[in-house]
Amino acid sequence: MIKSLLIANRGEIAVRIIRTCRELGIKTVAVYSEADRDALHVKMADKAYCIGPPPSAKSYLRMDSLVTVAANMQCDAIHPGVGFLSENADFAGLVREHGMTFIGAKPEVIKALGDKVEAKRIAEEVGIRTIPGSKEAINGQVEKAGELAAEMGYPVIIKAAAGGGGRGMRIVEEPGELAKALTIAANEAESNFADGTVYMEKYLFSPRHVEIQVLGDGRDNVLHLGERDCSVQKNHQKLLEESPSTVVSGEMREKMGQDAIRLFRHLNYAGAGTIEFLVCEGQYYFMEVNARVQVEHTVTEMTTGVDIIRQQILGCVDGKMEVSQDDIRIRGYALEARINALTPGLVTKFEAPLGPMTRTDTFLYSGCNVSPYYDSMVAKIIVQAMTREEGLKRMERALHELVIEGIKVNVDEQLTILQSPAFRTGKFGTDVYNKIIAAKK
Ligand code: ADP
Repeated sequence: MIKSLLIANRGEIAVRIIRTCRELGIKTVAVYSEADRDALHVKMADKAYCIGPPPSAKSYLRMDSLVTVAANMQCDAIHPGVGFLSENADFAGLVREHGMTFIGAKPEVIKALGDKVEAKRIAEEVGIRTIPGSKEAINGQVEKAGELAAEMGYPVIIKAAAGGGGRGMRIVEEPGELAKALTIAANEAESNFADGTVYMEKYLFSPRHVEIQVLGDGRDNVLHLGERDCSVQKNHQKLLEESPSTVVSGEMREKMGQDAIRLFRHLNYAGAGTIEFLVCEGQYYFMEVNARVQVEHTVTEMTTGVDIIRQQILGCVDGKMEVSQDDIRIRGYALEARINALTPGLVTKFEAPLGPMTRTDTFLYSGCNVSPYYDSMVAKIIVQAMTREEGLKRMERALHELVIEGIKVNVDEQLTILQSPAFRTGKFGTDVYNKIIAAKK
C-alpha cells in the first residue's frame, strides 16, 4: 500500500480525498496557489506547498511543478481530483515516468476516451448503442454534414471532440445555419480546448442525462454501482443529481450496467469512471465516458455505502478493491444539490446542515475566502432517504438550515427547482431548468 499521496487539486474535492486518505492511513501533501494560502485543504493535509500565483495555468495546471513537489516529498502517488489535470494523458504519463502511481486511468485510456469521436467508436465496437451522428470529424465538410443532417433530421448538434464542461456545443435548427455553426463551433473548440475538431450528432429532444458509476481494478474485477440522473442542468452544467432515476427501469439499469462493464473491461480500466448516456423515448444512447471520479460520485456513495475514492485508490495502486458486483446493494434514494457562489468574497459565517442522512462536502468555513479564480461550486449538499418524496423534503429542510453569509449563493434557485411540479413529478428532461426559470419570470 502507498504511504504518501499528493493531491493536485483544491476545494471540496481535495478535502474529500484527504478524508479518505486519513482513513486509509495515507499521509497527504496538498498544493496551493497564492490565493489559497488559508484554504481548508491546506489546513487539513499533513504537508502543504505553494506552487504559484492564483491563475490555474500558473499553479494547479503546472505539471512540472506538481511532479517535482511530489518527487521531493517522496510521494508514492498523485490524485488529480476532478477538473484541472484529471483527464490529461500527458500528466498521467509524466506521473508514471517519475515512478509514481497516477490515481486515475492509464494515459492511453484517457487519450482514447478524451476524443469523443474515438470514444463513440470504441463503444460501438463493444456493442453499445450511440447517439446517431458522424462517425468522424466533420470540420469544414459542409456538404457531407448537410447530407447527414438531412438523413437524421434537424435539429442536429455540433460538438467539440475534445469538449468538456458543457462548452463547445452548437445546436443547428435548419440547413441554412449549418455552415456557420460548423465554423463557430470549430473556433470555439480551438480556443477552449486547443483542438478544433468537431463532430455532429442528432439533437435529441428533451432527453434525460443518465450515467453509470463504474469501478475497475485494471483486470477482471469491474463493477457498476447503478445510475445517477443529472438532467437538471443550467447551460449544460449539472445542478441537481439523483439516484435512482425516475425513467430508469430495473431492466434498463441492468442493460446499461452490463454495457458499462463490457466497455470498461475492454479498456482494462483501473479506478473510478463514468459512462454517460442520454435517454429518450424509452431508449438509451451512449454519449461519452468521463475517465475520472466525478463531482456527483457522492450520490452513489449514499445509495451504495461504498467510499468511491477509497476503492479508486485501491484499484489504481495495486488492483485490490474491497468490493465486487455481488457486494453492491442500492438502497433507497439520494439527491445532491450543488451550491454555487454567485459572487466571490469573504464568507463571514458558514454553517452546514446537520440531521438525519444529511452530508455536506465543502471547503467553506466561517472566515474563509471564495476566490474569483476558480470553479464557482463551493459546496455539495447530499441527502439520503427511503423514497424520492422523502428525499426532496429532506433536501428542502437541509437547504433551509444551510447558512452562508458574506457571499451570494444559488440556494433560492435550487429551492425553486425542488418545489417545481416538473421536478416533483419526475417527468422532465434536460431543458427543465429553462422551463422552470422561464415560468417564474
Ligand atoms: P460535456 O462533456 O461538455 O459535459 P456532454 O457531451 O456530456 O458534454 O453533454 C453535456 C450535455 O449537453 C448533456 O447532458 C445534454 O444535456 C446536452 N447534449 C449533449 N449532446 C446532446 C444531444 N445529442 N442531444 C441533446 N442534448 C445533448
